[in-house]
Amino acid sequence: MDKIKEELNRANSVVITTHKSPDGDAIGSSLALYHYLKKEGKDVTVIVPDEFPDFLNWMVGCDKIVYYDSQQVLADEIIAKAEVLFSLDYNSLTRIKDLRNPIEKSEAVKIVIDHHQDPQDFADHYFVDTNSCSTCQLVYDFIAELGGLDQLDKAIGECIYCGIMTDTGSFRFPSTTSKTHQIIAHLIDLGVENSKIHQKVYDNSSEHRLRLLGHALTEKMVVLEDYNAAYISLSQEELKRFSFKKGDTEGLVNYALSINGIKFAALITEKEDMISLSLRSKDDFYVNKIANEHFSGGGHIYAAGGMLETSLEEAIKRVETVMKMKR
Ligand code: 5GP
Ligand code: MN
Repeated sequence: MDKIKEELNRANSVVITTHKSPDGDAIGSSLALYHYLKKEGKDVTVIVPDEFPDFLNWMVGCDKIVYYDSQQVLADEIIAKAEVLFSLDYNSLTRIKDLRNPIEKSEAVKIVIDHHQDPQDFADHYFVDTNSCSTCQLVYDFIAELGGLDQLDKAIGECIYCGIMTDTGSFRFPSTTSKTHQIIAHLIDLGVENSKIHQKVYDNSSEHRLRLLGHALTEKMVVLEDYNAAYISLSQEELKRFSFKKGDTEGLVNYALSINGIKFAALITEKEDMISLSLRSKDDFYVNKIANEHFSGGGHIYAAGGMLETSLEEAIKRVETVMKMKR
């Protein structure tokens, strides 16, 4: 921390990046750190690889975010000038698509703040705790380490609240600790309206999204009872039929995991150029290893993801095979 403090003090231009398909923790942690460093007088930009879901676009500062896929020239210029580069909520350059290129080239001081397993070696400093429920909680800890908790305000608090809420499944996953609740209490004391944030994120579905959920659960969920496993698959045709928008399948895999006796759940989604996999588990079953060994991915022990460059049919077969493997 002493070295980080020294380097941050010296720097003026800071860039904060987060992973592709940013979620609540990615956007929340990035904007929380953005607001804090702005208050400290830094010139700060948040750059994301691609679009994030509409249910996150209420956070203060989200209109200032730069998108690498549609604003590459501008983003490259900003990154080239950066003295400090933060990587938030990811620990491998494979998680940021083409944003990887300028980050790899940059000679800025690189700082990772993250809670995923197996950090890769690409940065100078790692503020990492794989037991932490969220990167937002780590950003809170990071600001505390910098002696900046008195700088927290409602806007920063809302961003941190959102990331902790979404990454803990609304404070229910085992990663939720008394410390998490103490931080949440502090945020509420700062004026964060907890109930409003839940509404903005969770009561914000389109009718299409709910119909897609109904279709997925009724028609597309396969339960392998003997193997304590279940999966849902969705094709491009189905996504188009239900006017799919980014974020519409968020949380869908958890329904499969909520079935009595199911310990391993998967969502198999046919994207335009590949098959994406979202994996969840509980109790003594860990999916980060499965994601890594079979699906070129990774993540947390109970929530991980990966991809396959096959047809949807082939991907379904492979997931079934993995689910039926002797363990
Ligand atoms: P989700 O299923 O919500 O997309 O992702 C669950 C968790 O797995 C997230 O923490 C995410 O960072 C991680 N994850 C998802 N896809 C990948 C991937 O392709 N590679 C790695 N390393 N992690 C992933
Ligand atoms: Mn996270």
